[in-house]
Amino acid sequence: MKAILPLFIFIDACGWEIIKDDPFAAAFAPNRKRLESVFGYSSTCVPSILSGRWPDEHRNWSYFVFDPQNSPFKSLRAWRWLPKFITSRRRFRHRLSKFIKGRLNFRGYFDLYNIPFKFISLFDFTEKKNPLQAGGMNRGGNIFDFLETRGIPYHVSDPAKGESQNLNDLLGFIGSEWVDFAFVYWPELDGLLHRVGNQSLEIAPKLRLYEQRIEQLLAAAREHYAEIRLYVFSDHGMANCDELLDLKSKIEALPLRFGEDYAAVYDSTMARFWFFKKEAQEFITYCLKQIHQGRILPDSELQQLHCLFPDRYFGELIFLVKEGVLIVPSHMGERPIRAMHGYHPADRHSYAALLTNQIEIPADIRAIPDIYKLMTRDAMLAQNANARVSQAA
Ligand SMILES: [Zn+2]
Repeated sequence: MKAILPLFIFIDACGWEIIKDDPFAAAFAPNRKRLESVFGYSSTCVPSILSGRWPDEHRNWSYFVFDPQNSPFKSLRAWRWLPKFITSRRRFRHRLSKFIKGRLNFRGYFDLYNIPFKFISLFDFTEKKNPLQAGGMNRGGNIFDFLETRGIPYHVSDPAKGESQNLNDLLGFIGSEWVDFAFVYWPELDGLLHRVGNQSLEIAPKLRLYEQRIEQLLAAAREHYAEIRLYVFSDHGMANCDELLDLKSKIEALPLRFGEDYAAVYDSTMARFWFFKKEAQEFITYCLKQIHQGRILPDSELQQLHCLFPDRYFGELIFLVKEGVLIVPSHMGERPIRAMHGYHPADRHSYAALLTNQIEIPADIRAIPDIYKLMTRDAMLAQNANARVSQAA
């Protein structure tokens, strides 16, 4: 029997608005707190949780950037004349993404999404490593580096394995008392919410399923650990998309050439621009200012959000839409989806949640990167307590 198991369960998109009127996890994690998210997508929220740092420090922000010198996609240039009806097919892009991921040795999640083939060689993909592993950050360390440096045995979900396989793996490690720390990652709720929206009747059953799984983990852990320090948390919420914005057509109607006058990445809720000519900057800025569904984020605000990059690596101009507006078509998708995240962190559905069986949530745990403090604190607590138990034995 070991002394302590810190059990951190990350449920993607299980935002404050999703659970605030639901008794989710109340039976075993009654203490809950709303947490501020990080501006950006999971590509930045997850690394922020895992590292305890913000995007301007760890530089895991948006996936695609204009960077022809360093583009790993140069070999795809030869394919740029393939007709769009082939290259825009989801199945074609999915298979090709898998192929590229293997060829380029990308370790994390990779998808070509809807980046046009014609211009793919102008872009770089910024998450070549897997943030869910030690050494996986673009800059600095993460919780897994912390655990490995200190020799703390841990379990982390492998996204390639799926939720139930990962659950079984962890149950095995708990049974053998091998781990002093566990990090569980469940991405399925995010996918469901994107598909059905945040008001769907399908959400509650998913929450009940997650409760059953957590109960199962707790029951197993109680057999082998005297104390389980449980934290269930998310990275952001999910807003329904009720308004579509064809931003790309508006920009492409301007007398400018993509790749020569400017470049852009159209994410689902923001657009990021790079300018190679002064007129391009003027035209695009003027055009964006006429669009009432969104606004250009000033540097002062980006700085407040810890998303101001002085080298403008992720874009010289960031345009963000209002909550509920979806940029479509975008480089992330050709067709609309029911719900999205990646709006301003102060928008209602952006907030994340933390639920725990601990009596106190320290006051300095306010935003999702603060979860890192809980992880490091509890990992050391467990290491020391478990070492004492094994010495006594
Ligand atoms: Zn998502």
